[in-house]
Amino acid sequence: NNKTIVDLFEEQVKKTPDKEALKDDYKSYSYFDLNKLSDKIAHYLIAAYGEQDKSPIAVLLGRSVHLIAVLLGILKSGRAYIPLDPAFPKERLTYIIDSSEAKLLISERAYAQDTIEAANTIMLENMLSGIDDFKGTISTTISCKDTAYIIYTSGSTGNPKGVQISHQSLTNLLISIRQKPGVLSNDTLFSVTTYSFDISILEFFAPLISGATLYIASQGVLSDPDLIIRKLKEVQPTIIQATPSFYQMLFNADWKGDKQLKVLCGGDVLNEALAEKLIHNSLEVWNMYGPTETTIWSSIKKVEHSKDASNIGKPINNSQLYILDTFLNPKPVGTVGAIYIGGNGLAKGYYKNESLTKEKFIKNPFDKNDLIYETGDVGKRNANGEIEFFGRKDCQVKIRGYRIELVEIENAIKQYSQSLRQVLVVAKEVNKEKMLVAYLVSSTAIDKSVLRGFLQKKLPQYMVPGFYVEMDTLPLTPNGKIDRKALPDVSGDDLIRKEFIAPRNKTEENVAAIWQKVLAIEKIGVNDNFFELGGDSLNAMKLINLMNKEFEVKITINDIIKNLLLEDQAALIDNIHIVSKSFKPVEAGEEIEKFSI
Ligand code: AMP
Repeated sequence: NNKTIVDLFEEQVKKTPDKEALKDDYKSYSYFDLNKLSDKIAHYLIAAYGEQDKSPIAVLLGRSVHLIAVLLGILKSGRAYIPLDPAFPKERLTYIIDSSEAKLLISERAYAQDTIEAANTIMLENMLSGIDDFKGTISTTISCKDTAYIIYTSGSTGNPKGVQISHQSLTNLLISIRQKPGVLSNDTLFSVTTYSFDISILEFFAPLISGATLYIASQGVLSDPDLIIRKLKEVQPTIIQATPSFYQMLFNADWKGDKQLKVLCGGDVLNEALAEKLIHNSLEVWNMYGPTETTIWSSIKKVEHSKDASNIGKPINNSQLYILDTFLNPKPVGTVGAIYIGGNGLAKGYYKNESLTKEKFIKNPFDKNDLIYETGDVGKRNANGEIEFFGRKDCQVKIRGYRIELVEIENAIKQYSQSLRQVLVVAKEVNKEKMLVAYLVSSTAIDKSVLRGFLQKKLPQYMVPGFYVEMDTLPLTPNGKIDRKALPDVSGDDLIRKEFIAPRNKTEENVAAIWQKVLAIEKIGVNDNFFELGGDSLNAMKLINLMNKEFEVKITINDIIKNLLLEDQAALIDNIHIVSKSFKPVEAGEEIEKFSI
């Protein structure tokens, strides 16, 4: 209860100084060396910005060992960190920096450029070359009540909101996870999650307080499922944590699993088919459940039978899950109710947003001195005390594991044009995948392609709808509310289509056939755009897999992103064939700079 994550890490450093703590494809640090480096970073920050000002520090970095050293350094300096995903558009990054009033940003050449003018920026490269002389230890006092990190998630008021988590909540989670599912000193955890999603914090710190080894997969590796599979074979990890979509993507790329691997799966609904595959192809499968507001995970379940896929188990240490009715009375066992969470994992609140904090963190009806968090999820408790997840009761959705408030997308669309009279965004099952569909009522015609480009500047890629349906009016229920159930299904016409130009050669014909298979759309023209036809990162993986097999090439996700038009992809394949003798595929992490310290 009274320890910080820094205490737990430093205790581990004393126990296993020489053990390998952290590695990526270029560098490896022992516990002793990682401690020394993070002390130097902390000292640098304190020397540059003073002992007094403890305002949080924003971080915009790529995936490498240095990211972890920087996060630890920030924590050791007594500050909290705010992770910024380099994949976010500038407008969103600027919003987070401005609204958090972070005075300092740590970034690196590859990402900073002109990103955020408001913040005072330290470049990683400069920091690493300027910290060599510090030899002492850091004496800053950190309280377990201090904030460790602030993570921004999609907000129902139209903008992202920051969730503020204390050291105490984080250590509670980490110690609980160290016990169950269990992290031991001979484990290696293979980290794949972006550091702007809170589950990454388990990946980073659970190994580092257990004497285990943390492997950071680079962005280069993560952008290609074949490379991930290759790296898994090479690194031979014993623990991995990811969302169901991630494992699905690996299976789509013919992953055979690993019988030595403990699989932690969470953040979204685990379906039975995936659970079945995971159970048969790994050592153990754990369904992990919880919102950012209650610190990473709040309940866990070892899934041994696929019929238990939606079972989210029992609370972790010092946490309580309540199934309540609208008057906050407990629902009887076996009946569905709203899930509320109490205990040590509860966030300090929404950063600089007291009214939302008061709305969502309410008095615990069973203990007036405590609060509980209203998750928006519904579930039921089984006779054995385990909880089954039944979905949500509001307009928050998960797309490929990403948490999205649909209102935030609607808000962004409304800013596009005054002619838009009504905007409604829903998540619909299309071609067996959950996709975002925007229904628009406008007084003038909307150019969907331009609207999409507008949204891409404001929202992360996973929040940009794939389908745009123009309607005269939205259907209403008898009492005047929008009738979501009566919204029309989407068809290929609701995608952004260009004037049709048929394939002109064999490669274009074959690429078009693969697109048709992946996107389940008829009649695709050579100037169509993969993302505009509803493509996303998950079905891009299917596309890559089929193209690489059909054409015997080694196309990566970056190739697809740079060549979104069908004709460009066909030309790329033809070019690869022409220069095939000298063709050298991009190696994992090639773009990552190497530093020597
Ligand atoms: P986030 O704050 O991004 O972690 O999202 C939290 C929400 O994700 C929860 O309130 C649930 O709606 C959903 N969620 C998280 N874990 C699971 C799980 N294991 N099964 C089903 N839904 C989940």
